Amino acid sequence: MSVSIPEVTLNNGVHMPILGFGVFQVPDEQTEQVVTDALAAGYRAIDTAASYGNEEAVGRAIAASGIPREQLFITTKLWIQHTGEETAKREFDKSLSKLGLDYLDLYLIHQPLGDYYSSWHAMQKLYGAGLIKAIGVSNFYPDRLVDLVQHNDITPAVNQIEVHPFFQRADYQPLLTEHGVRIESWGPFAEGKNDLFTNPILAKIGAGHGKSVAQVVLRWLIQREVVVIPKSVRPERMAENLAVFDFELTDDEMTRIAALDLGTSQFFDHRDPAMVKWLGGRRVD
Ligand code: NDP
Repeated sequence: MSVSIPEVTLNNGVHMPILGFGVFQVPDEQTEQVVTDALAAGYRAIDTAASYGNEEAVGRAIAASGIPREQLFITTKLWIQHTGEETAKREFDKSLSKLGLDYLDLYLIHQPLGDYYSSWHAMQKLYGAGLIKAIGVSNFYPDRLVDLVQHNDITPAVNQIEVHPFFQRADYQPLLTEHGVRIESWGPFAEGKNDLFTNPILAKIGAGHGKSVAQVVLRWLIQREVVVIPKSVRPERMAENLAVFDFELTDDEMTRIAALDLGTSQFFDHRDPAMVKWLGGRRVD
């Protein structure tokens, strides 16, 4: 099946699909089939992470798909336990080998925790050597982002952060845009929290376009020029989440969705000391 997915241009000229597919919480044993289905549905960008424990399965699906490498956009992330210059290089090699690739499209620092400045130095070198097309960060709040930008040669191409109708980050977007950092939304549906899929305002807007709540949310993010990577293990939802390029939300609809913002995470605060400690102690293979 062929679906034409528009691309954005990152701050180094690299093109990235504005809509991709995330595999967080897809069990390892299910991931090969799920990614195979996603690629068959038309997704070309896949977002995984060392900490998801499913990079090998993603790699098997990529290899079996027969899709030319240059048509794919593959992202993975470096976990906190592996921050540091030498460890970051070693873990990058490990991720690449698990994915069965000889270069990555996007490599992200998963959390602004641990010795991530040293990781960034390693990533800048890997980027310079052509082993990564673009480097970026994830879960960086404005202060951490500005500091990293100020003290390094390369500005992150992407900041992958929690963005959905209940935590919109509209106040953060201008700063990221000013620095040329593209927002990539994680949890575009807030994983269904706060009854997102039955929200009456989103449902009413969807009904007016013959679209589902999920499609309205993805379209709203895309119209904000935010990259999206929804996750689903079900082929019918994979297709549904791709069918968002044949309608447009009006300014009034965008404003009504803007009013849903609660201004706080629906998951946890990355600056909460107890959470920082928990994340920093989490071990991955
Ligand atoms: P999402 O907001 O994408 O929600 C996924 C949930 O929504 C699943 O339960 C899925 O169920 C359901 N769903 C998907 N499509 C539909 C639909 N059309 N209608 C109804 N329900 C639907 O959550 P994620 O946390 O997975 O976020 C997306 C991606 O972002 C992740 O997979 C990961 O790649 C990335 N991420 C990154 C983080 C980071 O720290 N950098 C943190 C969290 C996520 P089902 O599968 O049964 O269809």
